[in-house]
Amino acid sequence: MIRIEDIIEKVGRNHQQADLDLLRRAYFFSAREHKGQTRASGEPYLVHPLEVANILADMRLDEVSVSTGLLHDVVEDTLVDLDTIRKYFGDEVAHLVDGLTKIAQISNVSKEEQEAENVRKMLLAMVNDVRVVLVKLADRLHNMRTLQFLKPEKRKRIAQETMDIYAPIAHRLGMGKLRGELEDLAFQHLHPEDYRTLTAQLEKRRPENEAFLKDITGRIEEKMHEAEVPFVRIEGRVKRLYSIWKKLRRQRIDLDQVYDLVAARVITPNEIRHCYAALGVIHNTWKPVPGRIKDWIATPRDNLYQSLHTSVIGSKGQSFEVQIRTLEMHHIAEEGVAAHWKYKEGRRGAHDEDEALKALRSLVEWTQEVKDSKDFLDTLKLDLYPKDVYAFTPMGKVIQLPRGATPIDFAYMIHSEVGNTCTGARINGRMVPLRTQIQNGDVVEILTSPNSHPSRDWLNFIKTSRARNRVRHFIAEQQRAESIEIGRKLFEKEAARFQLSAKKLLGDTDGEFKRIANEYGYGRVEDLLAAIGYGKIIPRNIIAKLLGPEKFEELDTQKESRLRSGMRAVRRLIRLGDDAIVVRGVDDLLVTRARCCNPLRGEEIIGYITRGKGVAVHARTCKNVQSLMVNPERIVEVEWAGKSDNASYAVKLLAITENRTGMIAGITGAIADIKTGIRDARASVAEDDRGRIEVTVEVFDVKHLDKVINSIKSVPGVLDVERLQGIA
Ligand code: MN
Repeated sequence: MIRIEDIIEKVGRNHQQADLDLLRRAYFFSAREHKGQTRASGEPYLVHPLEVANILADMRLDEVSVSTGLLHDVVEDTLVDLDTIRKYFGDEVAHLVDGLTKIAQISNVSKEEQEAENVRKMLLAMVNDVRVVLVKLADRLHNMRTLQFLKPEKRKRIAQETMDIYAPIAHRLGMGKLRGELEDLAFQHLHPEDYRTLTAQLEKRRPENEAFLKDITGRIEEKMHEAEVPFVRIEGRVKRLYSIWKKLRRQRIDLDQVYDLVAARVITPNEIRHCYAALGVIHNTWKPVPGRIKDWIATPRDNLYQSLHTSVIGSKGQSFEVQIRTLEMHHIAEEGVAAHWKYKEGRRGAHDEDEALKALRSLVEWTQEVKDSKDFLDTLKLDLYPKDVYAFTPMGKVIQLPRGATPIDFAYMIHSEVGNTCTGARINGRMVPLRTQIQNGDVVEILTSPNSHPSRDWLNFIKTSRARNRVRHFIAEQQRAESIEIGRKLFEKEAARFQLSAKKLLGDTDGEFKRIANEYGYGRVEDLLAAIGYGKIIPRNIIAKLLGPEKFEELDTQKESRLRSGMRAVRRLIRLGDDAIVVRGVDDLLVTRARCCNPLRGEEIIGYITRGKGVAVHARTCKNVQSLMVNPERIVEVEWAGKSDNASYAVKLLAITENRTGMIAGITGAIADIKTGIRDARASVAEDDRGRIEVTVEVFDVKHLDKVINSIKSVPGVLDVERLQGIA
């Protein structure tokens, strides 16, 4: 078993000012809490945190990370809570342990293999300190090294998760060595047969490969000396098992055809020119394979990997690869993010990485300039995916959303029907408003009801274009349905005036009405009805087409007499519609004055397409207008047509007066003096001892009304006059 003192010594060597006592205390605490627990291998549990801490110490991480390694399982596996960790070991360690506990929860939720990419991103998005990921990777590495003690199914599951989630994260963070080991270990458990066969094949070739590598590395050394190109060392390596296996599978070739099975590696001092000089030496020694030179120095890979690769043909005709890089590039290739703990000298590189890599790059670069360890720790804070959040369904499926997304966005990501019938949401078990912004790791449950529909209001807060499009689409569909309904009713009304059966006309889908629809350029009867509902087409014109000009003229005259004989409801529509008010851009449309505000000629007005009652005209000042604005597409511009039609409107006025006799007579007299009709007048006395006289007058327009009001105001004893809303 590894000793804590060895770990402490390593950390002390790499970090002169480290608080080594923190490590000692973390060790004793972990030992006490895990006491009596054993691993599947039968060893005491403590072996695991110790091994993890040792891996971290080998990465040259600081004492906080290594202490976290010692404590990483206590919150999850023992009764210790985070507050206790904070109390004994401070905020930083507690923060890292908390991050690890959260990651453990994520991997417990998600089981779906195809979600791996999202789980990886979520994992990285959730942690704001790269050390959490490093501790997690060290934890996973030790678990993978001891995986053989678990039952086969569990082994497979963990190996798969390692392959899908942790190896790619290591790759993303540029940690080539760790990634390689994780992949080879996972491969061993996922494809045990292939693993055994391949190992045996390679074992058979080992003496041959070793001799070959010894030969070429020796040749390189010799030639480098001759050419006086400096180098740190020349290495020979055999390609990793999992990489070979992937290559064999992908290209359907056998082991003999893998040209880069063995490779030599030239490590130069930290000057790029030595790399290119070395490349020249290699190409002078062996013939390069055309098209196989890759310059990852000029254009680094997006995980910061830099190297020159070339394939050359050996003296016996077999090709092999040579990799050339500086010592610094080598460390970054092997250790990625972790390398900067070791590395002090910097370099600037390409500019076009995404946010995550910028964060990573600045992390690597910036720390090279910083001497103070406090500043250094601040640079470890990461926001690898600043634009995204990741949330779960209750079943553990990961949903990726833009930052600021709400449960509605989430619902539409699941299915458009879920979005369309969404009534509410629970986040982490609690009911929340639909405009709540989802946070990383939230478990979001959408409540639906078959009768529920999207609301226009949602457009004010939803974030995804997918949700936006679906809501807009739904509203447009709904408006169309309403317009068809309005159009149908308007047409029915007009048809009734000509004693036609709208039902019959509309029911016959291949008949006249359909023909007229086509004439207007509409494919279906519904389209024509919708056009009527939107006020684009006047039902009267359709009737005219149906009847032909003569018949229409004849019936239209009859209409007038019928109206006189008492179709009052219809008459009102006609009178107000045809003559008094027009909808801008349309000559003739059924229009009604809204009962709530009863607008007068001359007042500013707006029109609103109602359900089934044509266009309702409101005074712009009407208190209901605001709420109608919720459906701006139904608002139409209207104006008073031509001259006054001599129609009068009843308007109710309220006069506040002193409490004295003769007031009602004085007021009605003043109104009569300006030749205005009075329909009704009544007086009362209010609690404040003021007289209240309500009088309903007949006026032609708003100017006329002003005149009436002024004449009432001129009556002695009248204190104030106001117009009452609503029809008299
Ligand atoms: Mn662990």
